[in-house]
Amino acid sequence: MLPYKCISEKKQKISSGEISLKDNVISFLNRIEDQKDLNAFNFLFPDDALAVAAIVEDKIKKGTAGKLAGMVIAVKDVLSIKDKPLTCSSKILKNFTSVYTATTVQKLIDEDAVIIGKTNCDEFAMGSSNENSAFGNALNPIDKSRVPGGSSGGSAAAVAARLCDVALGTDTGGSIRQPASFCGIYGIKPTYGRVSRYGLTAFASSFDSVGCFANSVEDMASVMQVMSGRDELDSTSSPKDVPPYPEELNNLNKKFTIGIAEEYFGKGLSPEIKLAVEKLLGFLNDNGFNTVKVTLPYSKYTIAAYYILTTAEASSNLARYDGAHYGFRSADSSSLIDMYRNSRSEAFGSEVKRRIMLGTYVLSAGYYDAYYRKAQKVRRLIKTDFDNAFQKVDIILTPTTPTTAFKIGENIQDPLQMYLNDIYTTSANLAGIPGMNVPVGIDSLGLPIGAQLLAGQFNESKLFQVAKFIESNF
Ligand code: GLN
Repeated sequence: MLPYKCISEKKQKISSGEISLKDNVISFLNRIEDQKDLNAFNFLFPDDALAVAAIVEDKIKKGTAGKLAGMVIAVKDVLSIKDKPLTCSSKILKNFTSVYTATTVQKLIDEDAVIIGKTNCDEFAMGSSNENSAFGNALNPIDKSRVPGGSSGGSAAAVAARLCDVALGTDTGGSIRQPASFCGIYGIKPTYGRVSRYGLTAFASSFDSVGCFANSVEDMASVMQVMSGRDELDSTSSPKDVPPYPEELNNLNKKFTIGIAEEYFGKGLSPEIKLAVEKLLGFLNDNGFNTVKVTLPYSKYTIAAYYILTTAEASSNLARYDGAHYGFRSADSSSLIDMYRNSRSEAFGSEVKRRIMLGTYVLSAGYYDAYYRKAQKVRRLIKTDFDNAFQKVDIILTPTTPTTAFKIGENIQDPLQMYLNDIYTTSANLAGIPGMNVPVGIDSLGLPIGAQLLAGQFNESKLFQVAKFIESNF
């Protein structure tokens, strides 16, 4: 086990000489090598990581280091880092190198984080199991016969197996919260617009958000404070001030009201998960939180609305991969049209193709009104449900997933069953609100169970504070 619990303790131990950051990076690299079978990383940057570690170690000792000094971070392979490979776990971006750095990653670097490598994920972040990756599955470190969740499966596996301190993920419909739940760690998807998307490969632009995985609430809050804020390079990023999340962690107002929505406890939910979330609710109640019922009647349409709108956006966003501009190009084509068709047919995986076709269909003349426009209206109603609920409560508590981590191969032949994994997570992306997974126990097989905390837009502080209370006392 690592000789520190969170970044403040690590930094202090580096500063006193008790921990060497360089040795710490070497031990992470060794652990990654030892646990290669997890397949958590697509690329490693050992030389850069060691060089930065030496510089940062010096800065820490001199007292000039940034907020994330000492933290070793892995980055999901959908975010750009200048001069490093960017594949989105797709054959179509084979041998592609980023020409600039994503704002989120740059902010981490500017605060002296050490970037150790890029993590495996589902192709273009489409999936719930990491089984749709050109690099092969990543495994769940708790039980290697099971999936780590997806799409940010490599990031979750890396943090849960302690192959780094924190990992960045992205969440379009649950891709941070679901794998965090499957691997028994913390994960947050912020409010849409809280964090810049510049340098993030687009999947569904009005849903995508960058967040992170961590083993402690403090680490998660520290990274989110650094990454959040307005970015001139992303016009959808918000100019709202970013609260000092880590400093506020213990300022909990115990009078927070917690909402429970029965729509999230219906058919399909594992009884053991239901029990664990109810236990947490009882604990919060006993500790002075108000708990009340809320209703989110449009919840039953979330999966349908999500898969119509995100596939529509994906079909447009993925049109840029045509074999002409960059990435993979089919070798033998006799015309330009052939070249487009062959490159895309040969290099996209089957789930990505399915989404491009679905998205093209829902946007096509004659179907646009019936599917796309209707789903947009439903999205608005789902958001209104949450607006109404958050008039009454500060936090809504739900399960993160209907089941614990499933076996590799169990759902891959049944896309609908796979999509139903996202039943509790897509609503936050449809409504643009922040959501977090908090580990709350294990089931009878020893697999992690997660609870989801949801809050109103830009109320990340409430999530961090309640999560901190749960982490310290539950
Ligand atoms: N599992 C969901 C999907 O396949 C969510 C993906 C994500 O959040 N990137 O669309």
